[in-house]
Amino acid sequence: MDFSHYSDVPVQIAVDLVNTLDAVSGEEKLASPHDVTEFIRSRDTDWCKPGWSATPSDLDDVIALRFRLRMIFDAADESAAADTINCVLSEAGAVPRLSLHGEGPHLHFESDDDRPARWLGAVTAMGLTVALIEGGFERFGTCMSSSCDDVFVDGSRNRSRRHCSDTCTSRENVAAHRARQRNAAASSDAK
Ligand SMILES: [Zn+2]
Ligand SMILES: [Zn+2]
Repeated sequence: MDFSHYSDVPVQIAVDLVNTLDAVSGEEKLASPHDVTEFIRSRDTDWCKPGWSATPSDLDDVIALRFRLRMIFDAADESAAADTINCVLSEAGAVPRLSLHGEGPHLHFESDDDRPARWLGAVTAMGLTVALIEGGFERFGTCMSSSCDDVFVDGSRNRSRRHCSDTCTSRENVAAHRARQRNAAASSDAK
């Protein structure tokens, strides 16, 4: 069975949703219901739920979902991650549905009639489910930068990814380079 259309955009939605809260600075990108509406509206059209605007209670529910998704990335092991994923799938009411839109019959697990948190819950938890099955829990990561705690799913061939983004990688490279220069200067001073 090919669930692969859950592997790209839904995984990115899950990662982006967790990262709407900067865990280091506390900066909040979902400050209002409008932000939730825009968060989904800005997606690829196949994954853009049309025709609703989030309410204040939708915002609360999406924030609660985001907390659960963060727990998946922070989980101690695969089993704990799977428990939380299953919990989100169940709370979101994810059930397989045969869809005939687009390129022929395929499955969807979210319902277009759902409110945003349930819709997002089914989409993101299915994305993370497929990512875990296909790549393993080792691919679920948190940025190693000291000034960033954003999450990512490592798609690199050799599972070598350490940072959430190129921005963090280059910032850390610059910092490491400066530290080496300082050490070299200090050791030549000591001579
Ligand atoms: Zn579809
Ligand atoms: Zn980062």
